[in-house]
Amino acid sequence: MNGYVPNYIEEIKRRLSIVDVVGQKVSLKKSGRNFRGLCPFHAEKSGSFYVWPDSESYFCFGCKESGDIFNFIMKTEGLAFGEALEQLAGRAGVQLPERQATEDPEVAKRRQQTERLSEAMQAATTYYQNILHKSNEAAPARDYLKERGVSEASVESFGLGYALGGWDNLLKYLNSRGFKNDELLAAGLIGERENGGGFYDRFRERVIFPIRDRQGKVIAFGGRVLSGAPKDVPKYLNSPQTPLFDKSNTLYGLDLAKESIRRTDRVVVVEGYLDVLMCHQYGHSNVVAALGTALGEKHIAIIKKLTKRIVLALDADTAGQMATLKGIEVLKQGFDTLTVPVPTARGLIRFEQQLDADVRIATLPAGKDPDDVAKEGGSKWRELIDRALPVVDYYFSSVTASVDLNSARGKSEAVEKLIPAILEVHDRIQREHYLQKLARLAKVDAGLLRSELNRAMKAEAQNRLRPHPAPLPTTPEPEAVETFESADADAAVQPAQKPVPVKTAQPLELEDMLLAFLLRYYSDALSVEAADGEPVREDDFIRSENRLVFEVLQKVNAGEGSLDDFEENLNPELAAHLERLRTFSQAEPEIPDLVTVQETLRFQLNRLREVNLRRLYEQGTQALEESEVASPEEGEAGLADSDHLWVMISTVSDQLKQYYPPKSMVFRDSRDR
Ligand SMILES: [Zn+2]
Repeated sequence: MNGYVPNYIEEIKRRLSIVDVVGQKVSLKKSGRNFRGLCPFHAEKSGSFYVWPDSESYFCFGCKESGDIFNFIMKTEGLAFGEALEQLAGRAGVQLPERQATEDPEVAKRRQQTERLSEAMQAATTYYQNILHKSNEAAPARDYLKERGVSEASVESFGLGYALGGWDNLLKYLNSRGFKNDELLAAGLIGERENGGGFYDRFRERVIFPIRDRQGKVIAFGGRVLSGAPKDVPKYLNSPQTPLFDKSNTLYGLDLAKESIRRTDRVVVVEGYLDVLMCHQYGHSNVVAALGTALGEKHIAIIKKLTKRIVLALDADTAGQMATLKGIEVLKQGFDTLTVPVPTARGLIRFEQQLDADVRIATLPAGKDPDDVAKEGGSKWRELIDRALPVVDYYFSSVTASVDLNSARGKSEAVEKLIPAILEVHDRIQREHYLQKLARLAKVDAGLLRSELNRAMKAEAQNRLRPHPAPLPTTPEPEAVETFESADADAAVQPAQKPVPVKTAQPLELEDMLLAFLLRYYSDALSVEAADGEPVREDDFIRSENRLVFEVLQKVNAGEGSLDDFEENLNPELAAHLERLRTFSQAEPEIPDLVTVQETLRFQLNRLREVNLRRLYEQGTQALEESEVASPEEGEAGLADSDHLWVMISTVSDQLKQYYPPKSMVFRDSRDR
């Protein structure tokens, strides 16, 4: 698993010709490079409906309907996006991933079971919470939390509770609520005695930290003993793996942290529940923790959806150091094998650069937990996080601390370990920086190191030339057309139904970029007006996936729910597209002020309208030339049509004048009245 989400929407568009798709419903006549026919969206006698293979879109000069193949199928057949996607995928020979929607009885049964487990977890949560708040026996737990400085508000927002000391308090309570023992066992709430001697509560005499999924649903518990507990009792106890809970893909606190992670474009990973809670309590709400395990590949996949800037804030003790080093390895693996799902190749390259720069390590002062630092005040914590070292620097300091750089052996050990790390740095200037740094530290000649580095690079290049596994048949390979090396890989791609003309640079890149920008700054930018006085509207976008995402965004802006809520319920391919755009926009540094946000959007929107109008103008003039050639045979209809085109073209050209040339910031513009 490497985090790459195949773009099925793109692949379907790549394989199908819009002329074929539309041609099945509308009788199209070739007219130059384009095709034309009677509009299926309004009643007409002359053909004002044009299909443009170059931009894979259609446009009607009569009723202004426009769109791509998905839009066409949705509109003409009254289908939802998901249905149109399935239909066209079938036609293109693209196999979509299995859906739960086509639920077979086996799947339905499993879903009902997990729902039942979820209900049991919810009932247990409420039970533990009531005990913490009301029971006399929970007084030591309340004292403990007070002593640790946990506020009442944190107890509420993290949903803390307390498990009593007996063996079957929860068991009896949940039995009385109608839950069966096998259900409670499956939920990990109870354990079974050996030799079939009955069941017992898993959590006893512990403060309970509900572990929730991204949406805030309780899926497990973590229990911490109180201060005076016997030494042989483990300090922390988590739920076992259950159908609801897999610790390798759960981050504690993510439900409360996700908005802040997006907003600050940074996540801080700490080690324990209490660390997370205290950081949040002191206003640092982009903090999460892995649960009694090193940060793994699945955690990274989850984090990557929210931000690329990760700070690991870990304890200074040896265990903490070990965890940190392990963390680095995982992070490097996670990112190295990653093909970042962004809309353009340029974005991808930029992204990879950023990934290299954005994993940092913050070391806590010896003997201190994150919550100690958080308690000391907001600036202390922020300084610690801001001072976090990039992975390479951190690796440098941990390697050089562990060897004696004055001995010959120590020097060669340091060089041996650090050269591969320097090799990871893609940026040449940064690479040179680290090379110099190593030369200085080990007191070795930089020229010698450079030749070492070159040798290592060659060895790596050799490795890279080894055969790769064939690419996924449904994965678009935008670079494949441009390089000769990949000719073989191309042959391995399952042939589409018919030869597809090579489509060069994506003409609609602009609309993706605009939408990505809006996804980040919508509340400030949605109402910004372009040069013609109109804010962004649906038909600024030609791609149906963008139109649908824009629709969602408008609902979010109207307060109908959060982006995450909507994303959960979207068709998975559409959700993947939304995710790609969000990831894309998060890669940019944050724009700090409202005016710049609005100016940036205005600039992008003007540019998009200009490009769209220009295309329309060109297509229109082209169509006009062709209709004039064709008109003698077509008689009246052809002439009426060319009148139509004339009107359209002059309107477009008037509109275009509003956008081009772009207005100056300094000189007054004669177009302003
Ligand atoms: Zn029409």
